[in-house]
Amino acid sequence: MKYIFVTGGVCSGLGKGIAAASIGMLLKACGYKISILKLDPYLNVDPGTMSPYQHGEVFVTNDGTETDLDLGHYERFIDENLSKLSNTTAGQIYKKIINKEREGEYLGKTIQIIPHVTETIKNFIQSAAEEKQVDFLIIEIGGTVGDIEAEPFLEAARQWHQEKGGKNVLFIHLTFLPFLKTSGELKTKLTQVSVRELQRQGLHPDIILARSDYPIKKELIEKISLFCNILPEEIIPAITVKSIYEVPLNFQKYSLVEIILKRLDLKNRIPELNDWQKLIKKIKSNPPAGGEKILKIGMIGKYTEHGDAYISVNEALKSAGYVNNVKIKIEFIAAEDLEKQNKKEWDKLKAIDGLVVPGGFGSRGIEGKIEAVKYARENKIPFLGLCMGMQIAAIEFARYVLKTKDVNSTEFDAKTKHPIIYIMPEQREKIKNKDYGASMRLGAYPCVLNKDSLAYKAYKQIEISERHRHRYEFNNEYREILEQAGLKISGTSPDGKLVEIIELKDHPWFVGVQFHPEFKSQPLRAHPLFRDFIKATKNKVTSNP
Ligand code: GLN
Repeated sequence: MKYIFVTGGVCSGLGKGIAAASIGMLLKACGYKISILKLDPYLNVDPGTMSPYQHGEVFVTNDGTETDLDLGHYERFIDENLSKLSNTTAGQIYKKIINKEREGEYLGKTIQIIPHVTETIKNFIQSAAEEKQVDFLIIEIGGTVGDIEAEPFLEAARQWHQEKGGKNVLFIHLTFLPFLKTSGELKTKLTQVSVRELQRQGLHPDIILARSDYPIKKELIEKISLFCNILPEEIIPAITVKSIYEVPLNFQKYSLVEIILKRLDLKNRIPELNDWQKLIKKIKSNPPAGGEKILKIGMIGKYTEHGDAYISVNEALKSAGYVNNVKIKIEFIAAEDLEKQNKKEWDKLKAIDGLVVPGGFGSRGIEGKIEAVKYARENKIPFLGLCMGMQIAAIEFARYVLKTKDVNSTEFDAKTKHPIIYIMPEQREKIKNKDYGASMRLGAYPCVLNKDSLAYKAYKQIEISERHRHRYEFNNEYREILEQAGLKISGTSPDGKLVEIIELKDHPWFVGVQFHPEFKSQPLRAHPLFRDFIKATKNKVTSNP
C-alpha cells in the first residue's frame, strides 16, 4: 500500500480538502483502489457538537459517524463510502490514551507525546489501512503547518515515512502565494517559510501545490525550487478556478499523476477523465445549454452567513442543475427575518422558483420556516424539505390545512398540545439516562417507498437507503388524520413504524424527507430527489414564464 500525506502551509482555507480529494480522484481514474482519511488536530472529540457557524456542515457517513465537511468533498470526488476510520481528531486520540491510562494499561509508565500519542495516531492510520485494503491511502493533516496542535500528527507522519520507506510514502504540501497589489507581483516567501517549518519537523515535501489567484511565472517556480529544494516540475501551480471540480483536471495539466507514480516507483498510468471533462464543459457553458433562465432556489436557514454550513445541499443542488441543463442560483433567506416580517426578505422569498428547507436544530427561526413552507404550498412552488424541513412541512400542514392550533415539535415547544413531531418513548429513556449520543438516529437506514409517489418516480426502486442525523420523529398518532386531509406518507421504515417521506397530493412537487439525501449526491450522479426537484422547478418556470 502507498501512502500520500497532504499538509497545508501559510494559512487555512486554501482548499486542502479539495486538493486531497482531487489527488484521490485522479488516482482512482487510473484504476487504483483508493481511500482518504483526515486527521484533525483540534481537541474536540468529533465535529458532531461543533457550531456550524465556526466549522461548517457536519457530514455523516453510512456508518453514522459525524465528521468534518472535508469528508463530503472526498466522497463527492472519489465516489467511495467513507467510515468511522476515515476521520479522527486529537480529542479522540487523547481520550483513548487517557482511558487506557485510567485502566492501568500503561503499567505506570510516563505517558508522552512521543511515543504514546504518535503511536496512537499511527495505530489509527494502520486500522484504516487494514479496513480499506486499497492501493493508495491519502491522509490529510488538518490545520496549518506550524500550529502547535498539529505537531504530534506531523511527527507521526515522519515516523510513518521512516517505517514504511521513501518508496511507499509521499508528502504533498499545499501553500499560497499572496499577490501584492502595489508592486503587482506574487510573493514566495511564505511558501519558503512553511516548507522550512515542515523541515523543522523532519519532513520534506515531494510535491508542492502552489495556490494562487494569478498565473505563476516560470521564474517564480524556479525560485521556489531553489529555496525549497524541490524540482521545478514538482511544483504544481494551483490557480483559483471557477468550480472546485476543475481542480483535478488542472493538477493533471501539470502531470501530477506521473510525478506521484514515478516518485513511488510505479509505472505511469493515464487517468480516464472524459466524464469529468464533460462535466466541466457543462459547468462553464454560459448561458446554460437550452438557454433557460437561471433558476432561483430559496434556501431558508439560520446559518446563512456561513457559506459552508449547507455545503452538501449546495453541491447537490448544483449537480441537479447540471443534469437538468439549467443554471442555479441559491438564494439564502434568513428564517428569522421572515418571522419579523422584514419586507426585503419576503420579497426575496416571493422571487424564488423552488424552495429548500434544510436540516437544523433548535427553535430559532422556526416560525419563519413554517411561513415559508406555507407560501410554497399555497403558491404551488416546488418544495424539498430535508430532515427538519420535513418536520416543518408536517407542522405547517397540520396547522393550516387541518386548521389546528397549537401544533409543534416538542423540540421547539415541549408543552405543545399536538406534538406531531416528538421523541419516541424508547429514545426518551436513553436521554433520561444521559446517553445523548445514542439518542440520535445516525447513518444509513432502509426506507420502503409507496409505488404511487413522487419519491418512487425519482428513485425507481422500492427499497432505498439514506443517511440520518436527527433525534425527533413523526408521531404516528397523527398519521391517519393527516392522511385523510391529503398528506401522503410515501416512504416508511420497512416495518412501517417510522415515517420517512411525506408528500402533498394537491401540489406539483412537494416532498419532505426525514433523512439527508444531500450526503449521497455526486457531481456526476445527481441525487434522484434533487434531480426531480430541479426538474419540477424548471418545468414550472418554462411552462409559466
Ligand atoms: N432537529 C431535528 C431533530 O433532531 C432535525 C435534525 C436535522 O435536521 N438534522 O430531529
